[in-house]
This record gives sequence, structure tokens and C-alpha cells, in this order.
Amino acid sequence: MLPFLGDFFGNPSSIHRIGRKVRALLDDCRERVARVWKCRASEVVFTSGATESVCLAICGSARFLKSKGRHLITSAIEHHAVLNTVEYLVNKEGFELTTLPVDAEGRVAPQDLDNAIKDDTILVSVMAANNETGAIQPVAELGEICQQRGVLFHTDAVQWFGKEPFESIHQFNADLVTICGHKFYGPKGSGALFIKSPLLPDPILFGGGHENDRRAGTENLASIAGLVEAIERFVPTPVFEKSRLELLNSRLSSMGEIDGINLLCPLAKRLANTASFTVPGIDSITQLAALDLDGICASAGSACSAGSLNPSHVLSAMGKSDNEANSLVRFSLGRETTEEEINFVLSSFLNFVEANR
Ligand code: PLP
Repeated sequence: MLPFLGDFFGNPSSIHRIGRKVRALLDDCRERVARVWKCRASEVVFTSGATESVCLAICGSARFLKSKGRHLITSAIEHHAVLNTVEYLVNKEGFELTTLPVDAEGRVAPQDLDNAIKDDTILVSVMAANNETGAIQPVAELGEICQQRGVLFHTDAVQWFGKEPFESIHQFNADLVTICGHKFYGPKGSGALFIKSPLLPDPILFGGGHENDRRAGTENLASIAGLVEAIERFVPTPVFEKSRLELLNSRLSSMGEIDGINLLCPLAKRLANTASFTVPGIDSITQLAALDLDGICASAGSACSAGSLNPSHVLSAMGKSDNEANSLVRFSLGRETTEEEINFVLSSFLNFVEANR
């Protein structure tokens, strides 16, 4: 990333020599992503992160297709980037929404999607893996249903990249795929959107013709360079080493066998780096504060809503009571997490729960 803050400081849209040099490097970045994703370079759009990618995918496609229909479908467990975007389209722009339910493990059923699609359905958005429970969704199947029914499919694959085996961007059977860099050791504030040709969503930012007319604004080259490096290094061979993390995670998950602590979603159906629990009767903020005192950085719902005491909408959708949905704690393992750290978390958390029963 550093050269783009120094030697290669030029604007890729400038026609002078420094600009042309940076333009060539930007083109190279796009081609490097396309090589990993096995798609066309013109189908890769760099953004400021997942929120922007989601908004461009959903608002841009819905507005582009509104003369064909106004019905949108999403699931009840999406990140607020998706939920608030579709809510905006419903409240302000006259779109109609069906929200798919999930089962007790937090997974969407393909049959529910098939039943929900109507003649005027134009877009479906279902995430690849959930950020609160790690539950992996049957996205390829959902995408196939959309293909058969002639409906656009977007997946928010933010949590999935760098963790699950990756073959090509086409494995999701999606027209639009959202990712962001900081979920697999890329820089924060970096993201990308796969937009399958020849789809040209309406713009959500108005200005120049950057990113093949898909996203106006001067490109953040340093951030793009960091994202591309992370995609090349950490996606084809997932940086979150599944077999190692599964061993550690199953040890951590054993906390779910203790009376009063409930594990959400079995390990075989969730991301290997995520373990979420509820401890009904002890709210999330009390749990996080106690863990923090021991130097353990855990989360409750999405980081974006951390600090709020609203029950997790994901757990509510899984049929949990408000009391239980208020008591979520989520541990995320990283590439450097060790067995000693897992043992420390186990003893710290179990002591805390015992003392607060
Ligand atoms: N979607 C999911 C599933 C997420 O987990 C997040 C952030 O954690 C986002 C979207 C939003 O990403 P960003 O804050 O990078 O825009």
C-alpha cells in the first residue's frame, strides 16, 4: 500500500505520465482480482467497503429493474447494510419486500425462496455466512433457483471470503457478490463488488465514469492495493485455516455443554472461526465487559451495533426470546489464535458465568 502514498501519488484519471503509470497499476489490480475470481476484469468494481457494495448492488439493481417489477426478497438475518437498504427502498421508493425466515440453526431454506418468488420479483439478496452466528447459507442453491426463475441474485459474502474453500466467483451462482477487505486481513475501508456482465446497476454516486461507469469518484489506490494483495494471498488458500481452527473451535464450543450456556449453530454448519453462545439472564454488555477486564476481545451482535442493548435480530429470527437474544456473545478466532488462548477464554468465561448465575 505504501508506494501509493508516496511514489505513485498520481490520479489514475490524469493523462500525464504519473497518472498513466497509476492507471496501469490500477488496471493491473483489477486483472489480479479477476484472475482469482475467474471473471472478467470489467466485472470487478472497487468500493469503500461492504456497506457501499451492498447499497450499489441492491439500490442500483432495484432501480435499474423497477419497470419490470418492484418485489424484493431478502432474509431475516442479513446485516443491517442489507436490511436498512431494502427498508429504505420499501419506505421511500415503493418497493415491496418478502423476508425469508430461518430455522433454529439460523439457515434459510431454498424451498422458502422458491415459494416466495413472484412474477414481479426482480432481486433476491441472501448472505453467504452470517456475521453473528457464522451459519453458512446454501447460497449456490439459492442462486440456482434465482437463475431458473430469471431473478437477479446478490449475496453478501463478506464473512465467507478467506474462510471457506474458494473456486471462483461463479460458485455462488450470483449476479452480484459483495466482499470487504478487513474480514480477511485486508485494510478497513476497502471493498469490492462483482457485477456480472452486462448488468449495469443505476449509480448510487453521481460524478465521473470511474470503475467502468459503475462507481464514480477517484479510486483509493492504497486501499485497493491492500485489498488485492489480501485477495491473492488469503482467498484461494483460506487464511483462516479450517482444519486448525475447527480443532480450536470445537474446544471452545464445548462451553455449550454447560448448563445455562447455549451454543448457536453446530460447527459443521458454520464458519470455523466463529463461536456464538447465549447465556440467558446475563446480558451481552455485562458479558463483554467482564471478558474485556480479562483482556479478551469478544463481540455481541455485529460490531456496528455494539453498544446497543437491542436484542439481536438474528437470534430473534431463530426463534429465541428477547431475554435470550439479549445475551449473545460471539468469539472470533484468527489465524494466530492458539490453544493457550482458547484455554484462557474457557476458564475466564466459565468462572464469570459461575459467579453470576
Ligand atoms: N455485511 C456483513 C455480513 C458484515 O459482517 C459487515 C461488517 O461487519 C458488513 C456487511 C458491513 O461492512 P463494512 O462495515 O465494511 O461496510
